[in-house]
Amino acid sequence: MSLQDRIQHVEERIQAACDRSGHNRNDVNIVAVTKYVSVEMTQTVLDQGILHIGENRPQNAIPKWEALQGRGAWHFIGHLQSRKVKDVVGKFKYIHSLDRISLAEEVDKRAAASGVEVLAFVQVNVSGESTKQGLEPSEVEAFLQEMERYTHIKVIGLMTMAPIEEDPELTRPVFRRLRELRDELNAKMVTREPLTELSMGMSGDFEIAIEEGATWVRLGTILVGKGEED
Ligand SMILES: *Cc1c(COP(=O)(O)O)cnc(C)c1O
Repeated sequence: MSLQDRIQHVEERIQAACDRSGHNRNDVNIVAVTKYVSVEMTQTVLDQGILHIGENRPQNAIPKWEALQGRGAWHFIGHLQSRKVKDVVGKFKYIHSLDRISLAEEVDKRAAASGVEVLAFVQVNVSGESTKQGLEPSEVEAFLQEMERYTHIKVIGLMTMAPIEEDPELTRPVFRRLRELRDELNAKMVTREPLTELSMGMSGDFEIAIEEGATWVRLGTILVGKGEED
């Protein structure tokens, strides 16, 4: 399948998931996860009008960003080591993996120095798997309160990863819990402005995530491929 065909196929499935669940297609944003593919393929993705690019490793992402001169809007979606923050801030507008105060401290410092504001998602380990990064749901409220003092980071929502399931339906409770958590935090007015965004859903489970209210889906394999073809 060509990239154009893949995009169309994904687009149809996103629209169908929105229709099934009463969501507006305009509320769902696609991050094309290009971590498996080349600079050339990433450029083709941008040429097709997909502007949000997701990468999870600075050592692969930075050369790609430089080759493409930062075209598009870049999302850092992987575990971020504090010592890599200086390479990421100023290039990546979004960080989906904010999961500790020491990281916030460093991001804020670098953002202040570069005169930028970083848009962030707090990563939550809803499923409780020990292999997953993220805060426990019960820790998020206190974390957000502490975040208020970092003026160069704007927390816009929550992010989670569901366990890999053969039956995507099994991921539904994880996505639903993240949405409920966001709504609870908003009801308590924990942040100055309500958290509007939910980053959830990947190639295997994005339709379920959209049904449960995802506003950002992070799509690698299904959208741009794994890098063996095209
Ligand atoms: C790799 C990755 C994705 C995309 O995975 P696919 O299953 O290929 O769509 C999404 N989110 C994160 C955090 C990733 O690391």
